[in-house]
Amino acid sequence: MRSRYSAYALCLPKYIIDTTHPASPQFCDDETEWAQKISAFSSHTEFRNLEILGSQENGTLATVTFVAHITQNKKDVSFTERSYFEKTRGKWLYRNGQLSEGHAPNLITVNQLKLLPLAYYGNPILRKVADSIITITDDLRKLIEEMIETMDAFDGLGLAAPQIHHSIKLFIIRKPVETPDGGLELKEVKVFINPELSEPSDETCKLPEGCLSIPSIHSEVERPKEVTIEYLDLQGNKVKERVSGWEARVIMHENDHINGILFIDHLDKKERQSLEPFLKSLENRIHDGTEL
Ligand SMILES: [Zn+2]
Repeated sequence: MRSRYSAYALCLPKYIIDTTHPASPQFCDDETEWAQKISAFSSHTEFRNLEILGSQENGTLATVTFVAHITQNKKDVSFTERSYFEKTRGKWLYRNGQLSEGHAPNLITVNQLKLLPLAYYGNPILRKVADSIITITDDLRKLIEEMIETMDAFDGLGLAAPQIHHSIKLFIIRKPVETPDGGLELKEVKVFINPELSEPSDETCKLPEGCLSIPSIHSEVERPKEVTIEYLDLQGNKVKERVSGWEARVIMHENDHINGILFIDHLDKKERQSLEPFLKSLENRIHDGTEL
């Protein structure tokens, strides 16, 4: 991590590119354009100091929280970042980061790191119909806790168990609430065990969707505006709800995951075909011919 900071300070775009995970939002297919962007940033920035606040490692995932003090356009700026790294083929690669202005030690969590590795496009587990959950055990509760941390770390609206390599009928969402300015605010976490959807409304709407398992691809997906969901909550209570808007959309997206369906399957043939080269390149750079 310190070396990535140095690479920015010394303007070494090649090093930055080589240590960025292919699923990172920063990843760019056009290396020349990417290198130019990094050089432009480095040449306008003076790197004054780096303060490491803490780091944690858990198998193939790690986080480093640091405060960077830089000067941009003659102005001194500080920001705190919690960076996530994923170990890929023996190398730690930058996955993404949560940024906060100034000195923000609240970005460090005292708990042990509970991130789970994600399953990406091309992994067969994403195409399986998941198994029902028979009992709600302590292990399941622990898994859900880790799923919440993983969803939040990667800025997801929801996360389904197959996306973290567990083929079971379980997903979580952060209840999205539409704000008056058309944005989305993420509220409390909701846990759905053995969910069943029914009574989709005839009225549909088309909105852009993305997926943590298919990074960097977004497409407009048509879905019913409302749907009914029956599920077990974490306490094992049977719940039946009618949901609408963004909440319904996220629920339908996550519910698809436990049935082996991805949002790109909802696109019409032409649009799906136009995405094919991007999907192929994504699959190649993430799995790089390695056995899944
Ligand atoms: Zn998804």
